[in-house]
Amino acid sequence: MKHLYILGACGSIGTQTLDVVRQNPKEYKVIGMSVGSNLELAKEIIEEFKPEIVCFRKQEHIFSMSYTPIVVYGDEGLLAVSRYRGYENEWLVNALVGVAGLRPTVEAIQSRKHIALANKETLVVAGDIIRDLISKYNVELVPIDSEHSAILQCIRGEAAKDIAKLWITASGGSFRNKIRDELENVTVEEALNHPNWKMGPKITIDSATMMNKGFEVIEAHYLFDVDYEHIEAIYHPESIVHSMVEFQDGSIKAQLGVSDMRIPISYALAYPSHKSLMVEHLNLKPRTLTFQELSFERFPCLRYAYLAAQKGGLYLAVLNASNEAAVYLFLNKKIPFLEIEKIIEKEIMSSAYETKNTPSLEERIQVGKAVYVKILKEYGEIL
Ligand code: MN
Repeated sequence: MKHLYILGACGSIGTQTLDVVRQNPKEYKVIGMSVGSNLELAKEIIEEFKPEIVCFRKQEHIFSMSYTPIVVYGDEGLLAVSRYRGYENEWLVNALVGVAGLRPTVEAIQSRKHIALANKETLVVAGDIIRDLISKYNVELVPIDSEHSAILQCIRGEAAKDIAKLWITASGGSFRNKIRDELENVTVEEALNHPNWKMGPKITIDSATMMNKGFEVIEAHYLFDVDYEHIEAIYHPESIVHSMVEFQDGSIKAQLGVSDMRIPISYALAYPSHKSLMVEHLNLKPRTLTFQELSFERFPCLRYAYLAAQKGGLYLAVLNASNEAAVYLFLNKKIPFLEIEKIIEKEIMSSAYETKNTPSLEERIQVGKAVYVKILKEYGEIL
């Protein structure tokens, strides 16, 4: 039995994780969860799974329940759930959005929980630190992301030295059929309409700008210890091949399936086995699979991600913070779509964040916060 702590239980990954749990009640038990501002859904899932510890986003969200769990709230509450202990084989499913997911991941590792990670920002901002903590505390970290789940499945049983290249597939996002000139006046509603995947708003915008793919390249670097020169994103509009691994002898392995996040969630929870799951199975017969190069000119955010990774130090924290601020401004209709790229470019090109030393977790979080606040203020947002 795996004992689960699900952060972001009301979100897209959270609710799909709960569906996987529902399908396998003998395998998984929910011990803790954090819920967001959808209080109706929060009430439903709390009463269904009756976790021992519940974290609300805000104190005023707390409602009365039919039983008496430990109730916590806010950022401190997330840490309390992450460090809560009482069972063997405990897993933190981190499905929070943004850098808010970083500290809870660290706290959970230090409390010797294994990590099923959907929160990309954790590895983007602190991949090196997380990698060291994972080995220090001897816990597993398994990705919940279709691309990294695919790579994980492809490299099982293979030697690291035999890997020549990781190919990360990209659906192209909501504006894949538009040229840059057509992006001037696109709306939030259009941007949120992803052709292949149903996801939360932040990641859907990140997919449209291709920053999501940039983040996934960075995540892949830390998860699989492959150099950036040997990780490439490739356009694959069908979202059937979820990623590929190329080996030194020219052989390429791919993982295929329908676009249903419950498959990578189930694999992360059941890792390394493929437990039965009620999802649609891929019908290959009428399928055409196409691949094309992804252009840095069309998707400059992908280039900024590689650039930030190359600059290192604080630049990955700055990449993430400027992106979070820009996406927030776009979703709140304060800036046009193309301004997202400009905001990120300005920060990544700035020499203000250069440092000689490897920044600590604290420095990265503080600099990220400062960049976020600075950008919001520049656009007249009062915090
Ligand atoms: Mn993905």
